[in-house]
Amino acid sequence: GLKDEVDVHNYAETLRISEAFNRTLKRMQMLDASRQEFVSNVSHELKTPITSIRVLADSLMGMEGAPVELYREFMEDISNEIDRESQIIDDLLSMVRLENKEQTLNISQVSINEMMELLLKRLRPIAKKRNIELLFESFRPVTADIDEVKLNLAVTNLVENAIKYNQDSGWVKVSLNADHKFFYIKVTDNGCGIPEDAVEHIFERFYRVDKARSRETGGTGLGLSITKTIVQLHHGAIKVHSKLQEGTTFVVRIPMIYIKE
Ligand code: ADP
Repeated sequence: GLKDEVDVHNYAETLRISEAFNRTLKRMQMLDASRQEFVSNVSHELKTPITSIRVLADSLMGMEGAPVELYREFMEDISNEIDRESQIIDDLLSMVRLENKEQTLNISQVSINEMMELLLKRLRPIAKKRNIELLFESFRPVTADIDEVKLNLAVTNLVENAIKYNQDSGWVKVSLNADHKFFYIKVTDNGCGIPEDAVEHIFERFYRVDKARSRETGGTGLGLSITKTIVQLHHGAIKVHSKLQEGTTFVVRIPMIYIKE
């Protein structure tokens, strides 16, 4: 009768709600686990330079009467660790700001050629220090609707990596191209390359192929995750091709016209 129908309906509804509840709970638990992992990673990253500074400072204090050069050497190490700590904090701040949903893109029409020229001019001295050639080729002038500050950071991360993970006297080629809809920024280096099984992880936060080497080269493992987030905010895409010992290419593709969702 009617009552049975109502019961069946209620039962189905209850089941539906309880399934939805379980799904939400599971999602929250997963979120919580990844947040915990994130906090634990951040704490570890922030503590590492502090630990080094502690050891260096303690040694300095125990070195009464040591030669001045030795003091200077220790102070230099401390200064480097402070730089490293600052870099981690800067990267973290960039990342947190990007995650803040209220923070939208500050879109304006920008000459990508000019942006690239300035960006490369800024990085050229860093490349020069290691005798790395930094080349730029533009196939056509591009103007696009972008957040210049953010895209600048995204591309800077790629070019900095291409320099960092290169050999002395290597080269980095940056190119700009476009079709009717998208522009493409390509960054190619002839550096150490990325192992095949690592490629799928490089956009993850804190992921570094070679922790020891990256430490030497001052990486935080946040750069590429920041770059990817920025590219995605622009409704773009990023791809990587790499061959170990031969080099790496990153291609960023961004629509020239930004359509707000
Ligand atoms: P990091 O601060 O360590 O450079 P990123 O997120 O920018 O962090 O990059 C993650 C890892 O990907 C790096 O530690 C490095 O192992 C690898 N990687 C990134 N770019 C390159 C490149 N151009 N050549 C070789 N390896 C790279």
